[in-house]
Amino acid sequence: MSGTGAADLEGLRSCFRGRMYTDELDMGPFLTDWRRQWVGRSLAVVQPDSVEGVAAIVGWCRLHSVAVVPQGGNTGLSGGATPDTSGRSIVLSLMRLNRVRAVDPVNNTITVDAGCTLEAVQLAATAVGRYFPLSLAAEGTCTIGGNLATNAGGTGVLRFGNARELCLGLEVVTANGNIWNGLRGLRKDNTGYDLKDVFIGSEGTLGVITAAVVRLFPLPAQLLCGVLAVPSVEAAVSALGVAQGKGGQSLTGFELFSDVCVELVHRHTPGVRNPIGSASPWFVLIELQMQEGFDVTLLETLIEQLIEAGLVTDAAVAGSQQQVREFWALRENISEAQGVNGPAVKHDVSIPISSIASFVPEALEICARMFPLAQPVVFGHLGDGNLHFNFSLPSDSEPVDVQTHLEGLNQVVHDEVRLRKGSISAEHGLGVLRRDEAARYRDPVEASLMLALKHALDPAGILNPGKVLP
Ligand SMILES: Cc1cc2nc3c(=O)[nH]c(=O)nc-3n(C[C@H](O)[C@H](O)[C@H](O)COP(=O)(O)OP(=O)(O)OC[C@H]3O[C@@H](n4cnc5c(N)ncnc54)[C@H](O)[C@@H]3O)c2cc1C
Repeated sequence: MSGTGAADLEGLRSCFRGRMYTDELDMGPFLTDWRRQWVGRSLAVVQPDSVEGVAAIVGWCRLHSVAVVPQGGNTGLSGGATPDTSGRSIVLSLMRLNRVRAVDPVNNTITVDAGCTLEAVQLAATAVGRYFPLSLAAEGTCTIGGNLATNAGGTGVLRFGNARELCLGLEVVTANGNIWNGLRGLRKDNTGYDLKDVFIGSEGTLGVITAAVVRLFPLPAQLLCGVLAVPSVEAAVSALGVAQGKGGQSLTGFELFSDVCVELVHRHTPGVRNPIGSASPWFVLIELQMQEGFDVTLLETLIEQLIEAGLVTDAAVAGSQQQVREFWALRENISEAQGVNGPAVKHDVSIPISSIASFVPEALEICARMFPLAQPVVFGHLGDGNLHFNFSLPSDSEPVDVQTHLEGLNQVVHDEVRLRKGSISAEHGLGVLRRDEAARYRDPVEASLMLALKHALDPAGILNPGKVLP
């Protein structure tokens, strides 16, 4: 990077007065990630409120050879939105680019600025009697631009797919400061390479997403929800097959969690309880979305069948929409409860569903043998083959012990995942957290294609350098 003088920065400030911060205190919240694992430095944080503003900033950075770190809600879990420590980058915060541009309930699409929070998109859809199904615990803060840049998953993937499947069109500011308007609301469009799919999941390394057209669905009339006690992961996988057969398109959630997860939530989240009193090594939260009326017998009949087949030992069914929310609170608070419990080693892996029943006990057995102090905290979106295969360490662990466990457990878990043709980053992206490990496992041809793409779209290497690719 060439030198950037105070006069150059003042030039930028004059265009973004009141929306550019250079004071350490003002910049602080933008320079560290959600989990406070990474802290970076920056020349400035700029918050444009128009796509032209974004293009001007990227153009300025290109001219001055300054790196651009796009940032949405800063809820990412892989360090992708945090600048490095060189102090030679600009954080481009999209939070003020937050208008709903158009809602089309006939075409079932909504066009939104990248800085709209996920919750704002959901609410705008509901206001016209439609449903935007992307949902995750950070939805009040994360942005649709960040969701697309990380190809976020969340709880509705089983039925509706992840962020990529929900997106029909994008507007992107390219590395040379041009604006690509690909805001098409089409379900069929074979007019060349699908450029939007190149930018989705690229974590700000190929372009800055400034707006998107996403798909909407009919509002579900009611949610049916139950918590099931299951004797093993194998039983849970079999129960998923039965539920898919009976529930079809209505099945929207099938979440697995262990008894340790329940115990952690009970200990750290006052007011959230497991509706099942009996002991069980594993539990499943099942959700069905019904278009017409509240037919709880559908879920009850399914559960009876699962009990008869020996796949479920006990169950609780939500009797109201309030109870549905309470059941989900049990699942959604696991990650946070583990966070406050003490040091943790976390993984976000996906495996073909057909291999999960063998993966979980076999990987747990190896980890228990090699790392007896690490307590498994396993939960996740079983219906998507995505598990958070986590471990908690004793609260009095020395930093050096935490580091040893981190490196050892990462290696064992990720090797077991790769053995089964799985992925070491299912929904959180690579950022800096998984960048080097992913490179180690990557096929050389795939690696060279990725590098070629990066060089073609960002020849000067100014877009989020050091993220995704080493
Ligand atoms: C409590 C909690 C629960 C979560 N649950 C889930 C979950 O269930 N599923 C899941 O997938 N994730 C989950 N996450 C992770 C996170 O919320 C998602 O990755 C989210 O999509 C990030 O959005 P953001 O706006 O906060 O992006 P940021 O954190 O700001 O950025 C993430 C990455 O995207 C890039 N980026 C952001 N905006 C743009 C843009 N407009 N153009 C180009 N690049 C951009 C950044 O440079 C960075 O690399 C969770 C996080 C928390 C804190």
